[in-house]
Amino acid sequence: MGRPKNSQYSETVKKQYRELMERCQVHMEQMDKELPPAREDFQELLKERGVSRRSFIKWTSAMTAALMLPPIFRPMVAKAAENFSRVPVVWLQFAECTGCSEAFLRSSYPNVDDILLDTISLEYHETLMAAAGDQAEANLAKVLTDFPGKFICIIEGAIPEGLDGKYLRIGSKGKTSIEICKEVASKAGAVIGMGSCAAFGNVPAARPNPTDAKGVYGATGIKTLNIAGCPPNAVNITGTVLHYIMFGALPSTDSLGRPLWAYGKRIHDYCERRPHYDAGEYVEEWGDSGAKKGWCLYKVGCKGPYTYANCPKVRFNDATSWPVMAGHGCIGCTEPAFWDTMAPLEKPVEDKTIGGEHTVDQIGAVLTGVAVVGVAAHAGLTAIRHRGDDNE
Ligand code: SF4
Repeated sequence: MGRPKNSQYSETVKKQYRELMERCQVHMEQMDKELPPAREDFQELLKERGVSRRSFIKWTSAMTAALMLPPIFRPMVAKAAENFSRVPVVWLQFAECTGCSEAFLRSSYPNVDDILLDTISLEYHETLMAAAGDQAEANLAKVLTDFPGKFICIIEGAIPEGLDGKYLRIGSKGKTSIEICKEVASKAGAVIGMGSCAAFGNVPAARPNPTDAKGVYGATGIKTLNIAGCPPNAVNITGTVLHYIMFGALPSTDSLGRPLWAYGKRIHDYCERRPHYDAGEYVEEWGDSGAKKGWCLYKVGCKGPYTYANCPKVRFNDATSWPVMAGHGCIGCTEPAFWDTMAPLEKPVEDKTIGGEHTVDQIGAVLTGVAVVGVAAHAGLTAIRHRGDDNE
């Protein structure tokens, strides 16, 4: 069977998008009926915080493209943003440092993503809620009763499995993190692992891992959509929740549960230092002339070639910068076991199976190998030219 002709292909794609749009409209109408009204008038809030209509429209275009949707979905993204505060969220915290919550909260000036996250309907968050003790537990029980199958459960932190989970007990009844996780996640409409600890165990699971900590799936068998990172980028949680509001389902993921729209490519594929990598221009040691010229950090341990994430695109701190831009290589924090295998090495990793999905990584490794041949040739030429310079 041959490939469909171009016109057939575009008709098929158009049909798929029409169906997707219908699904989106049906879901959002249903949501209108089932969920409490929006807590805030989002457009008013944008005005109050100095975000113009024009900036909001620009943001909807960027977010629609980031979610890999065509422009006809822009009005739906805008509508989903206006409904952001209607979806109840339960945020559980287990073995973690609260860095993911910090990443979610911190901003120096408001942009649309920050304002959205400010409006999120957090029904339970141990660090942020005013309630404590029995009252906090009553709040949690009320969400499970009032919104079964409708709320999003966000989990931050790894789960210690050692001693039957007794390394981590929370609340007046002393429930283990395993018990709480199973009870809440079983009633949620969607479960999101926020950060690499919830996704893969990360720092709490680093060698020697005395509490036998694991990611949520590893410890409980509950599948999570993983917003990996240490910490993860707040933009990635915003986009994922918007997708859920629009379609009533979480976005497609890779085999590690990370949404493809945010983690579908390697850091190395987006990196602004990539032309230097291709040209064989490397920082050889910290502070050398290559470092001053902003050359590639591969030889001083950048793990961008093994790491899947959109950091160079969305950046951090109100999109001002990201680690490689600031002068330090990527430490691979969106990958499983990065703390043991990648972060401490200030040199390229030798084990090419390390990092994300092996198939894609192997392709990456091959690509790296191909580039290295070119790079070596270029580096040789550069060295000859520099020798020539020295001799002048
Ligand atoms: S190795 Fe690191 S610094 Fe170099 S291009 Fe790749 S991601 Fe950028």
